[in-house]
Amino acid sequence: MTLFPEMVLQGLNTSIIGRAVENNAIQIAAWNIRDYTNSKHKKVDDYPYGGGAGMLMQAQPVYDAFQAVKASIGNKKTRVIYLTPQGKLFHQDAARSLAQEEALVFLCGHYEGIDERVLEEIVTDEYSIGDYVLTGGELPAMVMIDAISRLVPGVLNNEDSASYESLHNNLLEYPQYSRPEVWEGKHVPEVLLSGHHANITKWRLEQSLKRTKEKRPDLYEKYLDQKQK
Ligand code: SAM
Repeated sequence: MTLFPEMVLQGLNTSIIGRAVENNAIQIAAWNIRDYTNSKHKKVDDYPYGGGAGMLMQAQPVYDAFQAVKASIGNKKTRVIYLTPQGKLFHQDAARSLAQEEALVFLCGHYEGIDERVLEEIVTDEYSIGDYVLTGGELPAMVMIDAISRLVPGVLNNEDSASYESLHNNLLEYPQYSRPEVWEGKHVPEVLLSGHHANITKWRLEQSLKRTKEKRPDLYEKYLDQKQK
């Protein structure tokens, strides 16, 4: 649910997510909140009571757009996610859990946000993509949809590629190399050319541990905690 459906659809209908939509592994649709306003002039925002900077999206168009979304998804259970800098931070764990859901609705705010009353009425979850303020919820919704969709079976070509990458088990992925064997005088690590699978697996784990410790000590602590349990 957005005021800028073309932005979301254009962004998501390309590359891997676009292919997944074409193959019917996932479906993505956008509802334009402006289409549901009762205002003659197609207005969707107004001044906030009590004063203050900016405009606020009004409750009525958002609520009516949501009724249309609900009617379209039938009796599928759904979560309604409001993208907001006030929400809990979106992480890979949340992506994994949301990828299990049958249907998800993303509500994108704009201007100074949305009238609190409709948020109380329809929203089940609030997520932020980081501690900074954007002009709208469209980019955060696209970020979440991309991260969640690639964990839905059938979206990635090689199912394995989602399970061995960064953040799996709280570790960052090991360094990777492709052809040629020597580039600008730099050699691919010998072990990767050895064909010895056990040694390669051992080397990759060591590299993952080293990188995580150096680049993300916070994640490394989590990894150690998890290992002890
Ligand atoms: N006045 C709001 C506040 O202080 O909480 C911020 C409004 S922001 C300018 C406009 C819209 O962008 C929000 O309603 C939300 O949908 C979206 N947004 C901005 N930053 C975001 C973030 N870090 N994560 C998720 N959504 C965000």
